[in-house]
Amino acid sequence: MTAPITTRLLELYRIGPGPSSSHTVGPMRAARRFRERLEADGVVPARVHVELKGSLSATGHGHGADRAVLGGLLGWHPDTCDVDALLDIRATLGPRPEIPWGAGGVRISPDDVVFLPYRAYRGESLPHPNTMVCRAFDEDDVLLLEQTWCSVGGGFVREADEAMSDILDDRGAPKHAYADGDTLVEAAKAAGLSIGELVLENEAAWDGGSDATLRGLDQVWDAMGACIRRGVAVAGVLPGGLGLKRRARDLFERVEAGAFEMGYAHIARAQAYAFAVNEENAAGGRVVTAPTNGAAGILPAVLTEAAERLGLDRARIRRALATAGAFGSLIKAHASLSGAEVGCQGEVGSATAMAAAALCEILGGDPDDVEYAAEIAMEHNLGLTCDPLKGLVQAPCIERNAMGVAKAWSAAQLALHSGGEHLISFDRVVQVMKRTGDDMKREYKETGEGGLAVAVNLPEC
Ligand code: SF4
Repeated sequence: MTAPITTRLLELYRIGPGPSSSHTVGPMRAARRFRERLEADGVVPARVHVELKGSLSATGHGHGADRAVLGGLLGWHPDTCDVDALLDIRATLGPRPEIPWGAGGVRISPDDVVFLPYRAYRGESLPHPNTMVCRAFDEDDVLLLEQTWCSVGGGFVREADEAMSDILDDRGAPKHAYADGDTLVEAAKAAGLSIGELVLENEAAWDGGSDATLRGLDQVWDAMGACIRRGVAVAGVLPGGLGLKRRARDLFERVEAGAFEMGYAHIARAQAYAFAVNEENAAGGRVVTAPTNGAAGILPAVLTEAAERLGLDRARIRRALATAGAFGSLIKAHASLSGAEVGCQGEVGSATAMAAAALCEILGGDPDDVEYAAEIAMEHNLGLTCDPLKGLVQAPCIERNAMGVAKAWSAAQLALHSGGEHLISFDRVVQVMKRTGDDMKREYKETGEGGLAVAVNLPEC
């Protein structure tokens, strides 16, 4: 078996501000880690400068990457920061370009976070499509520290020059080892557990007797619910200049009024929830990476609707989040969750697979059925490009999440009623997703330069 999966659920599910996990949450975490490194070394710089490159530069404006970096340099955490203060951070720092640092302050203005134009680094081999370079200088402008960070999707970050991941603790081997979808199913069957139960047993062993992960999952579930409630209560136009109207509230009211066909109403309700989450995300609200911000709506929408209709308790929800998390972690390990790396198949495709797996298990699927549900959902998102209009996580992202909800329901149902046998495994489809992403032209990977992103400029024919 190759290296077992050791990604933990609370690394995959991160609570943080919208609109993007790789362009907002990741840069904030990287900037904060840069500050922490300086503080650990006892260094107080005179000024700090950050360059955003690759997709961070191409669509970072629309994703608020500059604001996120400034927040990180201020020492803010994505899960606890004041999202309204984050939206205003440029205006706050503009007249007083200084951040508190120890007993004094460090000079930084919003202009010190630079979206480097592609021509400035064309020909340079970036360590990752989402790259940022942080530099600290002394009073004489001598470089004190330079770090290159990669935001690798889903809010995960790593330093470029050490093949270092986010995983900082030596957590040891999992109780039930699995490295891919096949060995996950085998391990669950051998232990007589569902996939969700197996993952939670691994987490409990790592927690060493505390219930830290269970409490964290409850916070994740509460954050998902709060996001849906906010999203279905608000109307208006989303920020950014597209003029896109929020639709969650209207859709939800139509569902409640019985406007949808009976057989479709529960899916329509879940789709309204997905609109709610993704509209909150687009407005810079607090969401949960599931597994990314751009694809944050699918899993909470499917689980919330199922929880309401089937009366699921917290224990079932924890297991469902664990089941979904297992498949998200496998995709992260063997392909990518980053739209900048593999297109939207890595974001909405992954989220759909996670939701399909969780729902299939909720509805009584065994480990084979659950693996099949994830496979169907991922297979039918292969080739999906990332092409957000104006670089904003709005169109096609919001509606695409709602479509992901419908696909997740279909995948779960098809898998449940197909006897578990299937030609293509989840592992194989993840391999294909990675290759498809590698073959995809740069324009279709979160640059805002291909597909629907340029549709408005295409000639009418
Ligand atoms: S198109 Fe997909 S991958 Fe790209 S920003 Fe939107 S949700 Fe994310």
